Amino acid sequence: MILHGKPVQERVLAEVRAGVEKLRAARGVTPTLGVVLIGEDPASQVYVRNKKRAAESVGIASRDALYPQGIEQRALNELLRALSADPGVHAILLQLPLPKGLDETVALASIAPDKDADGLHPTNLGRLLAGERGVVPCTPAGCLEILDHYGAKLEGAEAVVVGRSRLVGKPLAQLLLARHATVTMCHTRTRDLAEHTRRADILCVAAGRARMVTGDMVKEGAWVIDVGMNRLDSGKLAGDVDFDSVVTHAGAVTPVPGGVGLMTVAMLLKNTLAAAERQTA
Ligand code: NAP
Repeated sequence: MILHGKPVQERVLAEVRAGVEKLRAARGVTPTLGVVLIGEDPASQVYVRNKKRAAESVGIASRDALYPQGIEQRALNELLRALSADPGVHAILLQLPLPKGLDETVALASIAPDKDADGLHPTNLGRLLAGERGVVPCTPAGCLEILDHYGAKLEGAEAVVVGRSRLVGKPLAQLLLARHATVTMCHTRTRDLAEHTRRADILCVAAGRARMVTGDMVKEGAWVIDVGMNRLDSGKLAGDVDFDSVVTHAGAVTPVPGGVGLMTVAMLLKNTLAAAERQTA
């Protein structure tokens, strides 16, 4: 089975659109996302444009704080604190990566945890670890949304996550653990990667290495979630999974493009709506 992201994305966006309408009707509130973009990185500009367009399509307003010429760390921290204190802004998106010289961890910690649209504030990461309610990082949340949509069985499953970044691998492993999977995390110092991946009932790959997981590394019938987005020299987009050799015997696999990549923005908007609901309850 191919785990297409499109129907999952459409369902989440429809739920968010309905939630936004309900909030507006009940409390006269339009969920508003503060968008902070520092510098002129072309990829970041495209991502921000797409996020704002998607927000608009579900009725979420956005408030821009754009600093193409850059900004000092202290001023950035103050900006994020000011947006955090502004009752007209319900969630804050700090587009990463920040330009050289700015500390992402310090900046993220300046956002109020309740307005942290990406779930990367240390308090929210801590809540995830503690099994408490909090804001969940968008890409890992999108992976779970796909697994649930297509009916993956997580309880008791052997889950292997390749990659241990703060953005994807670590939170994804916690989400799988919270759903009672037995989770193994792999990284560049893992001795025999294939030995681990071949055990996986659920294999999630977020390594940033084009097509590194090949068919011989995947168990018959396994569910494979490919988070990777790698731009090849040809200009084509490739996942971390070699789709053609994996699809023949995996039970299910996400395509790239058209899989997890479609979910991240949808989950950002879901987080924004939830923040507005909490703050205006
Ligand atoms: P990252 O910060 O570069 O982390 C990559 C992780 O993979 C690291 O933990 C690294 O291990 C591990 N790794 C790298 N090569 C490996 C190998 N050969 N064997 C085993 N582990 C290996 O990347 P990221 O931000 O997590 O992103 C991962 C991928 O997902 C990228 O392709 C990125 O573009 C994509 N992504 C997609 C979305 C989306 O919306 N679909 C969102 C975010 C990211 P060490 O810790 O030992 O270095």
